[in-house]
Amino acid sequence: MATTDHLDLDALRDRYARERELRTATDDSQRQYRDVEQGFAHLLDDPYGTAPPRPAVEEDVDVFVVGGGFGGLLTGARLREAGVQRIRIADAGSDFGGTWYWNRYPGAACDIESYIYFPLLEETGYMPVERYSKADEIRAHCRRIAERYDLYRGALFSTQVKGLEWDGAAARWTVTTDKGDVLRARFVVLTTGPLNRPKLPEIPGIEGFAGHAFHTSRWDYSYTGGSATEPMTKLADKRVGIIGTGATSVQCVPPLARDAKHLTVFQRTPSGIDPRDNGPTDPEWWASLPPGWQRERTENFSAQFTQALPPTDIVRDGWTVLARAMREKVATAGPGADYAALHDLADFEKMQGTRDRVDTIVTDPATAEALKPWYSVYCKRPCFSDLYLQAFNNPNVSLVETGRAGVEAITPTGAVVNGVEHPLDCLIFATGFDTSSSYAKRSGGMTISGVGGLSLNRKWENGVSTLHGMHTRDFPNCFVLSQTQSGMSPNFPHMISEQAAHMAHIVEYCLNNDVGAVEPTEAAEAAWVDTIVAGVIARRKQLEDCTPGYYNNEGRGSANAAKSGVFGAGPIEFSKLLRVWRESGDFAGLELDGENARKAKENAS
Ligand code: NAP
Repeated sequence: MATTDHLDLDALRDRYARERELRTATDDSQRQYRDVEQGFAHLLDDPYGTAPPRPAVEEDVDVFVVGGGFGGLLTGARLREAGVQRIRIADAGSDFGGTWYWNRYPGAACDIESYIYFPLLEETGYMPVERYSKADEIRAHCRRIAERYDLYRGALFSTQVKGLEWDGAAARWTVTTDKGDVLRARFVVLTTGPLNRPKLPEIPGIEGFAGHAFHTSRWDYSYTGGSATEPMTKLADKRVGIIGTGATSVQCVPPLARDAKHLTVFQRTPSGIDPRDNGPTDPEWWASLPPGWQRERTENFSAQFTQALPPTDIVRDGWTVLARAMREKVATAGPGADYAALHDLADFEKMQGTRDRVDTIVTDPATAEALKPWYSVYCKRPCFSDLYLQAFNNPNVSLVETGRAGVEAITPTGAVVNGVEHPLDCLIFATGFDTSSSYAKRSGGMTISGVGGLSLNRKWENGVSTLHGMHTRDFPNCFVLSQTQSGMSPNFPHMISEQAAHMAHIVEYCLNNDVGAVEPTEAAEAAWVDTIVAGVIARRKQLEDCTPGYYNNEGRGSANAAKSGVFGAGPIEFSKLLRVWRESGDFAGLELDGENARKAKENAS
């Protein structure tokens, strides 16, 4: 038996495997989810407002950007810095904000430190109010960036892009929208975000619920009353149920527990909850920060998640202290040590601490036991809260464990688990976002046709294929900003910022040098995909051992799924690779007015 002073590691491994088994026994992991458009399309409606009516736009632009979240904002900012004026940014929401536009549920906040999460703090001169900011403040910062970089000029809100079609002869993209707009763009940038399409559980009877139901990313304050910060007074006489216990639920359960007559939390897999420990920003400290501090702090944070551990930890929070402790254990072990075992040990110790903490907070022993996470630390998004576990001590809050099948059935009057109906007036789906359907579907049904009418869906039907996560052959002058096949940091804006700078460099060069079409070579793209897949395979064991979720394709690896992975050497190496590429000036792996462009011109003449 492998033991340390206080942990029986074999027993823990068995327990983790059993927990994972509970979730993997179904034969089709995706069948447990329902496409929101099947009977619930109204849940995609925007409850927060609609942009004023406007005439359809017909126009030539340099760059058309799909998505007005951090990706679109950073794209716009970097393009403006490069002197690009004719930019249009379209978004389905009625303002900038992206994920922070949609996610306005009570308690919504960012669990990454605001000083590195808010883009462009030095450029905008803004000091976040707190270390971990609430959603309202983040949304206001999005508007601040848009104003600072003059991005409202040209913004198309409450607008769904329907089609992007490459016209090779003209070397232009034709962009069409649901508002009748037809634009011709030299470049298109897709920044639609990884988690934007609400996902619903496939539960028998779900469409027959007679009470009120909504998804957390479309919070219905007209039903609940209140706001993200004000009490939801209309829930005082309501029995509320919430399905899901991920990072979103962890934030909105405390206000629901405070305001609802009764709250039932339906849990399949518990999240691991560590302390939040938030506080106001110290203005003196803020004033003392030297120029360039935000880049240094941001890179230092991301570097804590790589093998090349930096000597210092500037942020020192729940993310970095943990990541660092795990790597230090391995780094200081000396020759001959079993590094994998040491890493596992650090993980087991960390998760034991998280489980022990539940007992110190939750007073009912059975509830405390049910709230303990039995999996490795990065299998699911780590959560931080000083209110979530405490909420289960409220007499009006019940925790219902669903087992692997999830909620069994929904009736007109409630939700059924183990044959018992829990009566509900309101049902809230905190069931996350679609990460598995096609890129086009997740982008609101946008069709993307490249050279010869090839659709992006068709090109990627056997897995994503890109160079640097951004370019894909036969889709010239199209940039995709996403984590797929790209650098990945828990601090998403860090990598988006690097990608936006890279994109702007290429666009600026092409505009200034009259390059009509830029796309990757087949060979460069294939080599990049090989790099990504090799990295994913190297980490596969760790991912396969995890309890399922969207982090590991619901626990089912496949060659195609591996192509949706991230650059294995980490965010700092990814940024360096892009920087060195730019500095070399040779545009390696890209064709500038290459074979496809020549053929298009020949066909046109
Ligand atoms: P999520 O992490 O995908 O969680 C979905 C939840 O729904 C899980 O608890 C899942 O249980 C549960 N579920 C799904 N189908 C179910 C069924 N049929 N029956 C019972 N339970 C079911 O979604 P999320 O909480 O919205 O978070 C999504 C992501 O948003 C996070 O990972 C994070 O990246 C981001 N986020 C970030 C912040 C921030 O502070 N920056 C805050 C909130 C969210 P299982 O675990 O058993 O599948």
